[in-house]
Amino acid sequence: MAGSTYDLVIRGGLVFDGEKSIGRQNIYVKGNVIVKVTTEELSAANEVDARDMFVMPGLIDTHLHLTGIKGGSLFMGYILDDARVRLLRAANWARELLIAGFTAVRDCGEPNSIALRNAINEGIVPGPRIIAAGAPLTQTFGHGELSHSIPLEWSIELGFAEICDGVDECRKAARKVLRSGADFIKIMATGGVLSQRDKPEWSQFTFDEIRAIVQEAEKVGTYVAAHAHGDLGARIAVEAGVRTIEHGTLLRDETLRLMAERGVSITPTMAIQELIYRYGKQIGIDPWGLEKIAEVRESVANVVRKAREYGVTIIMGTDLGFKTNLDIDMGKNWVELQLMTEIGGLSSIDTLRAATSNAARMLKINTGLIREGVLADIIVINGNPVENIKDVSRAITVIKDGKIAVEKGKLVG
Ligand SMILES: [Zn+2]
Repeated sequence: MAGSTYDLVIRGGLVFDGEKSIGRQNIYVKGNVIVKVTTEELSAANEVDARDMFVMPGLIDTHLHLTGIKGGSLFMGYILDDARVRLLRAANWARELLIAGFTAVRDCGEPNSIALRNAINEGIVPGPRIIAAGAPLTQTFGHGELSHSIPLEWSIELGFAEICDGVDECRKAARKVLRSGADFIKIMATGGVLSQRDKPEWSQFTFDEIRAIVQEAEKVGTYVAAHAHGDLGARIAVEAGVRTIEHGTLLRDETLRLMAERGVSITPTMAIQELIYRYGKQIGIDPWGLEKIAEVRESVANVVRKAREYGVTIIMGTDLGFKTNLDIDMGKNWVELQLMTEIGGLSSIDTLRAATSNAARMLKINTGLIREGVLADIIVINGNPVENIKDVSRAITVIKDGKIAVEKGKLVG
């Protein structure tokens, strides 16, 4: 309607606003911002009929890797695939993520994600908002060196991670990734599952190294996210000032208490653990990954339960990073919400918060809520995920930045 005060209304849906259910509401959007949430019936230039539907903020996956790798071996993917082909595949993943209802994702390590973010921001490729780490920082013989058998120079040449040791090199590596366009810095603070010869419980980087990286991040107004399974490495990272602990599968009480005190969140990434545990062999996970998965998978449920007890903010992140064509896969990232209720014991409301308002607050982006003044990243779901969390997979309309990006499950334009 010409001359309307509002550009878009999402009419009559049952609304979860990112924190709680607020009943049937009309959501009015002007430009890219939500300007009114009300039961009042007003006109708008464009309309989404959401009566009989569920409406909530767009989903946010705060831990994935837009590597564009097929199959489960990151190492072989980096060795055999052309980085440009991987980027094109990742562009397709971005499209699938948007269709699935993800309006923002944080890439926790993949140099190509910076280019993909820029292309999406330019509007030439459809996809969610990307918050990109670029190359993660790792020590020599660290988790970011995917193989520990090849010559060190080859690890550097693979280009996945910035390998740095000692305070000066860590500062330089931090400055390098920030210069490359990273939105934040990802570090590897312990060994991991998909790296060859380190163990998840081994701590990596020293306090002084991590402190230097945190300082470089904070100087430019950003922060550090730490991959950490083992308790010691996580504790050192928290004490050195990181904002998030990724995985956190082996955390002990003292560290969880410290995290609650300092406002450090945890991203339990159960999707990757279930994927490797259930299908690892079939999808070609490297043998070292198959050996190490059981320990972290067994422990994570207990850690999530304790995190809730201590008041640590739990955030949704899958850690998916390759295409599997299975029921746990890039583009089906909502599977994490299901696992958070089944394995982590979260209520559906807490799970939805983890993937919307909690995630946005941690990322410091103005989304994740359906409130006046917040960017209009909104999804319409044919179902009710508060009653059945599985329904979170049934997004039919996706609004990103105030524009209808997906309608009836198909990309618009
Ligand atoms: Zn990861």
